[in-house]
Amino acid sequence: MIAEKTAKDNGAGTVSRKGTLSRLVLLGPPGAGKGTQAVWLSDAIQAVHISTGDLVREAIAADTPMGRQVKTFSDRGELVPDKLIVDLVMPYLIASEKWILDGFPRDVAQAKILEAALAEHDHHLDMVIALKIDDQLLIDRLANRRMSHATHKIYNLMFDPPPASDPGPFEQRVDDHPEEIRRRLQVYHDKTEPLLAFYSSSGLLRLIDAGGPIEVVHAKITATLAGQ
Ligand code: AMP
Repeated sequence: MIAEKTAKDNGAGTVSRKGTLSRLVLLGPPGAGKGTQAVWLSDAIQAVHISTGDLVREAIAADTPMGRQVKTFSDRGELVPDKLIVDLVMPYLIASEKWILDGFPRDVAQAKILEAALAEHDHHLDMVIALKIDDQLLIDRLANRRMSHATHKIYNLMFDPPPASDPGPFEQRVDDHPEEIRRRLQVYHDKTEPLLAFYSSSGLLRLIDAGGPIEVVHAKITATLAGQ
């Protein structure tokens, strides 16, 4: 999701910071709540939310040449080749001074591409927030995740069922089926998790326990931003 932020009061006052945070990466396994936290956080610090997963799904839905190329990988829960994902995301990184990246980088090679692209413009990352959560909880969350076709709201049949006021219908993402969930978690552990060591060594990493309710995770991120 790409959303330009305005200067309206939207909770930013709850985040007190010592310096300006302009370029953040949000890391975490599928189902950790990255999207939800990124939307809230982008409001809180007045940044653009750039989700590569959303860009991929939008390209597929629009049936663009790019969408047709990425679909086979995405539907199977596999990573889209670097060249394609970089072509998708780079225009957004360049267009905005302040953003939160959700879903990119996905491995160390992409992190190095990002670093080089930022360095070209004399920019750097300010912080990497990594959500940590147990695999079994992720499986329960993803297998029960549904999106309302009418309202585009995301629900969870176990933890947050749709209210009667939402007419639905409620759709499951193609990559939220059991085999694809397993593959996505495997890809996360094999390829994305090494990024924790990568960003830890540069001092950018902040680890957040994301096993609790959304509001509790919000509060932990807020405290982390305040402490920097
Ligand atoms: P997400 O919504 O972040 O789980 O992304 C959904 C799918 O989009 C992934 O399973 C990948 O197929 C693709 N995707 C999103 N971001 C990337 C990325 N940085 N690199 C490669 N593939 C990606």
